[in-house]
Amino acid sequence: MNRADISALKRAMITAADDIVAAEPELTRIDMVIGDGDHGIGMKTGFTALKRELLANDYESPYALFHACGLCLVKSMGGSSGVLFGTLLIGGLEAIRGLDSLDGTEMCAFLGGGIDAVIRRGKAKPGYKTMVDALLPAKAHMEQMLRDTTAVGPIMRAAEAGALGGVEATKSMLPRLGRSKNFRENAIGWPDPGAISVSVLFGGMAKELSK
Ligand code: ADP
Ligand code: MG
Repeated sequence: MNRADISALKRAMITAADDIVAAEPELTRIDMVIGDGDHGIGMKTGFTALKRELLANDYESPYALFHACGLCLVKSMGGSSGVLFGTLLIGGLEAIRGLDSLDGTEMCAFLGGGIDAVIRRGKAKPGYKTMVDALLPAKAHMEQMLRDTTAVGPIMRAAEAGALGGVEATKSMLPRLGRSKNFRENAIGWPDPGAISVSVLFGGMAKELSK
């Protein structure tokens, strides 16, 4: 699809929420090895609430839709990742104020602003084995894809591909932040759970926006 209107964005976020809920066992298993084990349940709680929010309401703009999604995650999830995933959906909203649908350029500006906000807020540097290591390559892949097309489907697919590459790269990283830093060498070989969640979120959105 070239442009995503409000109903397409709503479907995209509902599909992503379903995929996050389905990924809960994997997220929990990995966060048990290299974190405190709560990431999967936190994500499941947050995205279950997000789906309920979307099904119960209508939104007048993409801005209002993503704003409601972000607030819902911050309120329902708790933990560092609740604030960070909320920030991802709220931090770039100024880029889409006043629009009634999003093309790939606008989606990239929105998500890119959210990614920058997550980095400012969480203070993770690249290579710290966090969601930032999926978010930054996702942004780079979107920017690269914009040279070929401004259709929103391929741009979201590019975000997913960048995030998946980032997940793979986190396997060899030593954790430097959050609870998983206590696991040091034992975390080598395992991907970062927050990075996996980013790839699942972008993948779910891409699936719907590529139709
Ligand atoms: P908590 O660390 O509070 O237990 P979760 O288990 O829900 O939170 O989430 C852990 C994930 O959050 C990590 O895998 C990592 O990707 C991400 N994360 C934690 N702290 C930060 C941070 N300061 N910046 C970016 N990402 C972070
Ligand atoms: Mg945790």
